[in-house]
Amino acid sequence: MKWSYRIGQIAGTDVKVHVTFLLLVAFFAFVSYASGGIAAAFATTVMIVALFACVLLHEFGHILMARRFGVRTPDVILLPIGGLARLERMPEEPRQELLIALAGPAVTLAIAIALYLVLWLSGAQLDIGDLSRVDRLPLLEALMVINVMLLLFNLIPAFPMDGGRVLRAVLASRMGMRRATRVAATVGQALAVLFGMWAVFSGNPILLLIAVFVFLAAGAEASAIETSTAGKGVVVSDMMITNFRTIPFYAPLQQAVEYLLEGEQREFPVVDNDGRVEGLLTRENLIKALAERGAGSIVGEAMTPRVAGVLPTLEFSRALEQLRGSGLSTLPVLDPAGRLIGLLTMDNISDLLLVRRAQGIE
Ligand SMILES: [Zn+2]
Repeated sequence: MKWSYRIGQIAGTDVKVHVTFLLLVAFFAFVSYASGGIAAAFATTVMIVALFACVLLHEFGHILMARRFGVRTPDVILLPIGGLARLERMPEEPRQELLIALAGPAVTLAIAIALYLVLWLSGAQLDIGDLSRVDRLPLLEALMVINVMLLLFNLIPAFPMDGGRVLRAVLASRMGMRRATRVAATVGQALAVLFGMWAVFSGNPILLLIAVFVFLAAGAEASAIETSTAGKGVVVSDMMITNFRTIPFYAPLQQAVEYLLEGEQREFPVVDNDGRVEGLLTRENLIKALAERGAGSIVGEAMTPRVAGVLPTLEFSRALEQLRGSGLSTLPVLDPAGRLIGLLTMDNISDLLLVRRAQGIE
């Protein structure tokens, strides 16, 4: 993720903080300073850091469980909304996903119980009935209350909360990953709508924002999983376009204009005299260069240079990742010798997915 900085490494996983998280700490510290001076600012900072240490422990619950199933976990990022542990892939088996999803909340529960025991042993008066006063509780009490709240929030059965993954994993052992994802996403979105209505009635804009976020995240998660499930077993050569036009590096833009208007192809691989790919001329490249340089200028000056090609044997999800990461809607497919043998396009991928879904291929 952009704007995140590595602050260290725990058990082989990089711990990063996002710059917005640092801003959040600074903001609350400043607000406390304005109202209560340097001591209050210090107390607030300690509180936030302690809270995020709890969040980090929660994430390491997921991480260590994922490792047990051989899933690599390159990093965990602290964001203002919580922690985000990146797993390189989701485990195939629903039971493994279930255990990974439960491991985080289990850690949070353990922290809450441990804090409760410490408070109980120290004879503290636990008056936590009024949640609106959580900011005035002593540090340990406040931490315990917030951990309990985090636990409950995490177990809401909606993506992207852990509860959503638990629900999906439970359903998946019965109805397969794809249907389970769709059902879990629908449950999550229905809950988000109810939550949103409640937020409107109680006039709480922050709750409404969370409801909208959950609604969107549930949909995004569902479509991401549907796509990767539908593309299982497919490689680039199965989905590339083989019927396409190339354009020479030194061709005038006028020729590209004619190609564009003659057919449905919108991106053209630009090749040199030996047929090697030099870049890609997109429709945007063409329009921009036409306006700036005119129809007589050459394609090579207008194209997007140094476009990385994909191998025909590359597996579906990696290819999709590379295509998305490139910021282009088309990538050239090059054989190991570097010869251009096809085009990988976003349109063609969606067509393929539609066809496979219609045929019920999973
Ligand atoms: Zn979690």
